[in-house]
Amino acid sequence: MSEDKSTVLVTGGAGYIGSHAVLALQKAGYKVVVLDNLVYGHRELVEEVLKVELVVGDTSDRAFLDNLFATHNIAAVMHFAAYTYVGESVTDPGKYYHNNVVGTLTLLSAMVAANVKKFVFSSTCATYGIPEEIPLPETHSQKPINPYGMSKLMVEQILTDFDRAYELKSVRFRYFNAAGADPSGLLGEDHDPETHLIPLVLLTALGKRESIAIFGTDYPTPDGTCLRDYIHVTDLADAHVLGLEYLLKGGETNVFNLGNGNGFSVREVIDTVKKVTGKNFSVVECDRRPGDPPSLVGTSAKARQILGWYPQYTDLNEIIRHAWQWHQQRHG
Ligand code: UDP
Repeated sequence: MSEDKSTVLVTGGAGYIGSHAVLALQKAGYKVVVLDNLVYGHRELVEEVLKVELVVGDTSDRAFLDNLFATHNIAAVMHFAAYTYVGESVTDPGKYYHNNVVGTLTLLSAMVAANVKKFVFSSTCATYGIPEEIPLPETHSQKPINPYGMSKLMVEQILTDFDRAYELKSVRFRYFNAAGADPSGLLGEDHDPETHLIPLVLLTALGKRESIAIFGTDYPTPDGTCLRDYIHVTDLADAHVLGLEYLLKGGETNVFNLGNGNGFSVREVIDTVKKVTGKNFSVVECDRRPGDPPSLVGTSAKARQILGWYPQYTDLNEIIRHAWQWHQQRHG
């Protein structure tokens, strides 16, 4: 029982967004304990870069969680641990429902038992499904089109019910496309396998891939390629600290979109990578990828109004410059 009440448990803190949140929490003066099963996370990020306690285990292991809460004086939980590959969620939904729903339910039940009742949750714009209006507000209907989005929506519902029954207060953040890397160059995106556009284009610029594929050039968008709302991971991390502080001050359960508010096309991303890196590489126009909506752009006005969240890095050049710095160091 060495920690005081400001200790925050960060699940998935060895992953991309979670590790940036740990850094933001440290900068804001919080003590952090990371829980990660290291299936996709990176031990060295937590132990050598962030230098915080890493507890290796699974969110679906109740006895393990009970022991964790009994031995650490945890005030709140930030929950990033989840599987996030949309395509895999379609072919192996059991894996997604087990980890993302059963794991989270087990964690929430352990929290209630330990009387820890502040929860910041990584949800996703994938809970909206096909957009009926752009930019998407939080009030948009939620009809996910894949098990990944459905698993996150189920947790949102569980959180509503846990507030009513057990007064567990939560902030759910529906992210748009997390991108970039901490400006210090200490942290960045390192998925295996990598499926996201910006890191794939950067790996192509580094010569690690032969070409970059554009999935669909016949969308009803200005240049025919999909528009996405790329939000800098450091801005996402800062929003989590604000969400935590909102809850610690007694804020009610709430939901916020976290996006840049601007849509950038696949071609714009590729052109910006060419400009920022000074490298030329081969671009191949391919068929559409199943399940991709033409445009996914959100409004984050609510997070600005209620949390006072102002993203600092909304310029695509800057987002890509930070990601490039990280990729050169990691893979160059
Ligand atoms: N995309 C692409 N080529 C790739 C990877 C992605 O054209 O090799 C497109 C994808 O179809 C989507 C956008 O880039 O329109 C962003 O995809 P990503 O997987 O990064 O994020 P998502 O929006 O699916 O969460």
